[in-house]
Amino acid sequence: MTIVIAIDGPSGSGKSTVARGVAAALALPVLDTGAMYRAVTLAALEAQVPLDDAEACAAIAERVVVTLEEGVTLLDGRDVRAEIRGPVVTGAVSIVAAHPPVRAILVARQRAWVARHGGGVVEGRDIGTVVFPDATVKVYLVAADEVRARRRQRDELAAARDVAVDEVKAALDRRDAIDSGRTVSPLRAAEDAIVIDTTHLDVDTVVADVVARARAAEASR
Ligand code: C5P
Repeated sequence: MTIVIAIDGPSGSGKSTVARGVAAALALPVLDTGAMYRAVTLAALEAQVPLDDAEACAAIAERVVVTLEEGVTLLDGRDVRAEIRGPVVTGAVSIVAAHPPVRAILVARQRAWVARHGGGVVEGRDIGTVVFPDATVKVYLVAADEVRARRRQRDELAAARDVAVDEVKAALDRRDAIDSGRTVSPLRAAEDAIVIDTTHLDVDTVVADVVARARAAEASR
């Protein structure tokens, strides 16, 4: 039976870290769907298509080959791992991701990826609600705004970008507003998702909780 663990939540809620830990514990591959939206956004920027043109962005999404394996993201064979985390893509990705035809293309690819890998830990914004409504376990992570901003600031520093926490917080707020306010697949918890507030929890505790729920769900099937 295929195991799919859906991990959703806003930026800085701990999705990637938790997804990696759960995947390691259960020997499953991880699919970072945000990296897919980011790679398509980079391609749209490079092709200089207007980002508010849904059809033009969808044509780009259709044309490019985005490969995600073991933490490396390739765009038409080019390693774009660092570039897709930069401020330009981060500032634009929510606009591109709000287009329904772009989402339709990427959701189909996400399902195909999981089918090809025989299951996986899938992180994003709409995994439990839209992409895998029948996931084995659905987790929705939240954290206090201040803590989310500090975590993102730490990521920025690790990438040698020195950004003030207020600036990081403003960018997060902008992205959250677009992701939560869009009409198609807005960021929200599925009704049957377990909501975990990671503000005061360490990663190992959250990972152990999710792994225990996955094992229990498997045992009862
Ligand atoms: O998770 P990450 O911060 O890399 O996601 C970047 C952006 O991609 C999000 O802010 C959101 O606009 C979009 N996204 C989405 N649906 C997903 C994953 C990401 O709309 N499943």
